[in-house]
Amino acid sequence: MEKLDMLYEGKAKKVFKTNDEKRYIVEYKDDATAFNGEKKGTIVGKGIVNNKMSGLLFKLLEEKGVKNHFEEIISDKEMIVKAVKILPLEVIVRNVAAGSLAKRLGLKEGTIMKSTVLEFSYKDDDLGDPMINEYHIKAMELATDEQLDIIKKYAFMVNDTLMEFFGQKGIKLIDFKLEFGLFDGEVILADEISPDTCRLWDAKTNEKLDKDRFRRDMGNVEEAYLEVLGRIQ
Ligand code: UDP
Repeated sequence: MEKLDMLYEGKAKKVFKTNDEKRYIVEYKDDATAFNGEKKGTIVGKGIVNNKMSGLLFKLLEEKGVKNHFEEIISDKEMIVKAVKILPLEVIVRNVAAGSLAKRLGLKEGTIMKSTVLEFSYKDDDLGDPMINEYHIKAMELATDEQLDIIKKYAFMVNDTLMEFFGQKGIKLIDFKLEFGLFDGEVILADEISPDTCRLWDAKTNEKLDKDRFRRDMGNVEEAYLEVLGRIQ
């Protein structure tokens, strides 16, 4: 497959057109941002880790029945994906209180939620990705009811699959963010699944093995990303 013009450059990835109009090449970057782009930095090796990890998890999820955009890894930092149109939604799944949930509801970080929490944000950098609910999604026509049903079903399937998978590797899945896209009129899982988009804690020590180490200047950021990759592959 031929890599053509860059279509889009985001905070953590570049997306390129290819000679197949139904396929893109995604290139994962080492650039890291937090707090809606206010904090910027580099996590050496992150692109390689996130590419490998996303590929591995998307493959596992496809086997479990979660249709997604992943096709094939073609280099250290690049994968071929289906050319989806991303829905402007961030879908957040939480098992344990952390980050913005802990802050918003006054919960101690680490509090186990009695049942899984699903949240939506409107994907808009200028607005700071505000939290919305299903009524906003419907009223703003961000997704149809049928699409939303699939999104919710997939979000819980991803949670079940990843909780079990990471659990076997001695890692707790605290929370994560998903994005979905349209391909041939169908909703499929897209974007990435990595320590940038998941909170992952060591099961024994609760040590953070994710982007919070960067957000909170905790050090050993590169080491944490490599630790996760080492455990899962
Ligand atoms: N998340 C993400 N991108 C975002 C916002 C959140 O990948 O733009 C992930 C984040 O890494 C965490 C989960 O979604 O795993 C929940 O994040 P939270 O709402 O607590 O926000 P944060 O504390 O990251 O600002």
